[in-house]
Amino acid sequence: MGIATINPATGETIQTFEPLSDAAIAQTIELSQHTYETYRTIPLAQRSQWLSAAADVLETNKDAYGRMMTVEMGKPIQAAIAEVEKSAWVCRYYAEHAEEFLAPATVETDASHSYVSYQPLGIVLAVMPWNFPFWQVFRFAAPALMVGNVGLLKHASNVPQSALAIAEVFEKAGFPKGAFQTLLVGADKVKQILTDDRVKAATLTGSEPAGASLASTAGSVIKKTVLELGGSDPFIVMESADLEAAVNMAATARMINNGQSCIAAKRFIVQDSIFDAFAQKLVAKYAALKVGDPLDPEVKIGPLATPTILQDLQPQVQACVDAGGKILIGGDVDALKQTLPSNLQAGNFYPPTIVAEIPLEAPIAQEELFGPVAMLFRVADVDEAIRVANHIPFGLGSCAWTREDAERDRFIRDLEAGCVFINSMVKSDPRLPFGGIKRSGYGRELGKEGIHEFVNIKTVWIQ
Ligand code: NAP
Repeated sequence: MGIATINPATGETIQTFEPLSDAAIAQTIELSQHTYETYRTIPLAQRSQWLSAAADVLETNKDAYGRMMTVEMGKPIQAAIAEVEKSAWVCRYYAEHAEEFLAPATVETDASHSYVSYQPLGIVLAVMPWNFPFWQVFRFAAPALMVGNVGLLKHASNVPQSALAIAEVFEKAGFPKGAFQTLLVGADKVKQILTDDRVKAATLTGSEPAGASLASTAGSVIKKTVLELGGSDPFIVMESADLEAAVNMAATARMINNGQSCIAAKRFIVQDSIFDAFAQKLVAKYAALKVGDPLDPEVKIGPLATPTILQDLQPQVQACVDAGGKILIGGDVDALKQTLPSNLQAGNFYPPTIVAEIPLEAPIAQEELFGPVAMLFRVADVDEAIRVANHIPFGLGSCAWTREDAERDRFIRDLEAGCVFINSMVKSDPRLPFGGIKRSGYGRELGKEGIHEFVNIKTVWIQ
């Protein structure tokens, strides 16, 4: 795929970009390394000031950056602006807390003084996806820059304007030239960049194949990686739950970002006694969602980010039906098109869709559906709910709705996921670690744990 901004709502190509030449890639890495040699010694207080300034730049320009994201990848404009605000929040969070997280930790031994010191590693490569073009990058960059690392961003090929704008945010904030740079390159250049001796580590947020490819390259040259990959999060609703609250959240939890979020609730696992009522209410919620131009503030569901995502989703929904699933609403792209104005006919729109009664054994029941499609599963009790929830190769997020303490404790103990939210939808928060288990990846971002991923945990012993 070329590097280009193509409006997913209209199919219009807005701007194309030439990928960097090998010579330009080499120059960029050289500047990163040169900057790192002095940047690593700059006091935390100064880095913190720059990071706070980056938050200011984001907040001042949130409308323009939000619009840019919406035009590049189709998320509703209000959500795009909120994403810029959240990116500012993560900058402020680490600007305020990095000193505490990175403080040397004394450990009593027979030395006169022994302690743990947290030091930077050098250049860290960030390979990032298009679905949260700002947030994914800032949640990596804010802690990395506070540690004293420098960042190199290889963003998804369909969000080049966002990629360039992010590097500009750090420059405008006062960070030294080279502290954070964007490389406009395709995925085919990742191996070459990661095997460069000056690049010390990498983080990738994206699909399983991309993660596996990056991690095997990193493994061949013994470099640290963090992987944030896909998920098919369970949203469990028990008879004891507040049904209205659960349904209200269920609609949001699946449809966020036009259904293209790693931590979206993708499988709704509902106790038999309330299954029909839950399904009926969820159908009504989905029927009320306005689909259309994501720049219109009234629109809740915009287009999928690329034609490929649409092409991948359609056979997946068909596979649900072939396996015995029943479509309760949606599933018909042509019918949706008839409701859209002429300028949106070439957009990648998919209707809000619910499929119920898919057999658990069907291979499709274990896949991630990246779009506005909810799968509903009926279960008898807490044991079956946990069994169904864990019956996937992924382990990113999970949430469960219950007012019974015993059920709550079972979910907290037994759900195989990097997080469990009780009576709330899964969301990321700068204050809490975020990441997955199983094939959803490894390592953590955010919180205190996130800032310790790309550091040299140096043991110091003074006799
Ligand atoms: P993708 O194709 O894996 O792309 C993500 C990034 O990886 C892009 O920059 C892409 O570059 C690059 N890439 C692709 N193939 C690569 C390879 N073989 N080696 C190195 N880099 C490669 O991801 P996507 O399908 O667009 O994104 C959706 C996936 O990301 C979903 O599975 C979603 O759940 C997951 N995701 C996870 C999280 C999380 O925090 N766990 C957050 C968001 C998304 P090009 O664009 O140039 O191909």
